Formats: sequence, C-alpha cells, structure tokens
Amino acid sequence: MPEVKTGCMLTIDRLYAGQMPEREELKKLLTCHTDEDAEYLFRLARQVRERIYGKDVYVRGLVEFTNYCRNNCYYCGIRRGNGNACRYRLSDEEIYNCCDEGYRTGFRTFVLQGGEDVYFTRERLCIIIENIKKKHPDCAITLSVGERDYKDYLAWYESGADRYLLRHETAAGWHYNKLHPAEMSLAHRKECLFMLKEIGYQTGAGFMAGSPFQTPECIVEDLYFLRSLRPHMVGTGPFISQKDTPFAGKDNGTLEQTLFLLGVIRLMLPYVLLPATTALGTIAPDGRERGLLAGANVVMPNLSPVSVRDKYSLYDNKIYTGEESAQCVECLQRRIEQTGYRMVMGRGDVLGYLS
Ligand code: SAH
Repeated sequence: MPEVKTGCMLTIDRLYAGQMPEREELKKLLTCHTDEDAEYLFRLARQVRERIYGKDVYVRGLVEFTNYCRNNCYYCGIRRGNGNACRYRLSDEEIYNCCDEGYRTGFRTFVLQGGEDVYFTRERLCIIIENIKKKHPDCAITLSVGERDYKDYLAWYESGADRYLLRHETAAGWHYNKLHPAEMSLAHRKECLFMLKEIGYQTGAGFMAGSPFQTPECIVEDLYFLRSLRPHMVGTGPFISQKDTPFAGKDNGTLEQTLFLLGVIRLMLPYVLLPATTALGTIAPDGRERGLLAGANVVMPNLSPVSVRDKYSLYDNKIYTGEESAQCVECLQRRIEQTGYRMVMGRGDVLGYLS
C-alpha cells in the first residue's frame, strides 16, 4: 500500500465508514480505480463480511423448475421469443425429489427459480411450498419467479416462503427500456420489490455487470437504488450473451468489473447475503472463489435434474455438469476451503439489520 492513499482509496474508506459518496465520486471510483485500489477494496470487503459472518459461506440448492416465460427480455435465453429454447416444466413430484435429494446432501435452503410461467398459479405454488415445508420444516424456501400480483406474493409468504429474489436488472429507466420490450417497466419491477419487503420476505435485488448499453452512470443509479431499498440479498453477475437472443454477440461483462462491484456492495450493505454467481463461475474457472474473496458469502449450486440442466440456458456456456452442481458437494467444499472460508449447510439467514 502506498503511504499516501489514492482518491479511490479515500472513497472506499467512506463506504467502509457507512457513508454514501456523491454520484460523481462513485462514478470516479467505478471508472478510475487501479488494481491496487481494487485490492484495497477487497481487503476491506473481506473484513466487513468476516466481522458479521466470520468465515462462513452459505450454500443454497437451486431448483430451476420451469423455463417457460411470458416475458421477452432481450438478454435472456429463455425469453418467450426464443423458438430454439427447448421448454420444460418439472412436475410437483420432480420438484419434491430435488429438494429431498438436496436435503439428504445437507442443503437447508432451496431456491425455486423459473421463468414467469403462469402455469404455476398462486394456488399451485402454494401447494408446492406447503409440501416442501411440511417435509422439511427446518429449511428456508427462496422464490425467484418474477413479477406477480401482491396477492400471489402474500399467499406464498403465508404458505411458508421465506425469501424472494427479483433482480431490478438496472435502475436507470432509459437503460431498462434498452434491455426489455415496452410492455415491461422498471417502475413495476421496483414496486414488486417494495411489496416483497413489506410482506416480510428477505428480499433480493440486483443487476448484471456489463449488460449492453450500461454506462457508469447506470451503475451509480443501481448502487443508489440498492442503498435506498436496503435489500437482504443482492444478485450481481456478469452479463453473458446468449446466441438466440437479440443480444447475441454483444460483449460479456468482465470478471474484474463484477468483482469490484461485489466489493462495493459489501461495503455499502454490510449484512447483505451476496452470492458468487454461476455466471461468475462461467466467465472464469475460479470466478466464484474470487467472488468470495471480493466480499461474496453465498454460493448456489444446481439441484435441478441433470436431464433439464442444459435447457435452463439463460446465457451461453453455462456450467452445469461438474463441480458447481449440488451432487458434488465435496468438490464445492474443497473449492471454498481453498479460499480460506468454510461451507456452512444451515439455513443461512441474513444476520442483523441493514441500517
Ligand atoms: N424470471 C425470474 C428469474 C430470472 S433468471 C425473474 O424475472 O426474476 C435470473 C437472473 O438471471 C435474471 O434476473 C438476470 O439478471 C439473469 N440473467 C438473465 N439472462 C442473463 C444473461 N444473458 N447473462 C447473465 N445473466 C442473465
């Protein structure tokens, strides 16, 4: 470390002290930092996460239970308009089997994620949630099924769902409209996030790093939005292009940028549950480990049946057969331990309040 701190280091210090820098200052941090600044950020981010979560890394079993989707997001491989997507929907029994297998392996959080598939009505999902909870009352259920009515969210919460992931995708309105067709709106997505929080879910927002048309100003907006929402979880991974989407061939987000954002988010929201995402593990073989060393404290291995894994292809080259999967929990444990952290199989709830 130099004897005199750089301007970026002073900004990082302010974040560490719980202050929110002005927009211009944040923009400078995002665009002008050196590798040394990044190392400084990661060191403080680790300090903060270790103060709250020690060396623990929480794991979640991800069940991708449907790739039918009514939406047409330009970046996403399971968008409605992708005629090349091979559609599938797990039966209730298949979903229970995934959770049972996960439970035997030690998982105590199941994340049910899917496209916006109206086949899964309010009632149908209530039944699924109740049955999983009946069998595994010591487990947490996280839902990630997009934008739905208040009544759906409330009913699922009352059936036993604990958490909900709904990335806001981008907090800049004009950018949102570049990533989504006109029938979708940022205002509605934000409204959903505030509803989820009000109902009582541990709520997750988030955005992609390096999505097409994203500017540093967009990311500043994302950070300000996260600061005002104060979510319990934040999902941030690199954008990766998918060949059957309008964004085929667009540049992917980078490892460096994603890691830097993870570090900043950890300082901004010290208690946050922050996954080192599958997308991060896709753009670099050691992506998720490096995510953990930049402030992330969650990993979400795949519990979906092997037969459908290649069909939930949000982006190209998604890793889906090897060490990232829940079947190889020892591999995952070994990888986590290599970073100096340790895998913890409990529910892994958020520890404390985001002030
Ligand atoms: N239908 C649910 C789940 C969406 S998939 C919902 O609307 O929340 C989960 C996340 O994957 C999305 O929120 C998006 O941020 C991310 N994703 C989609 N396509 C991607 C791509 N091409 N590259 C990286 N991440 C992508």
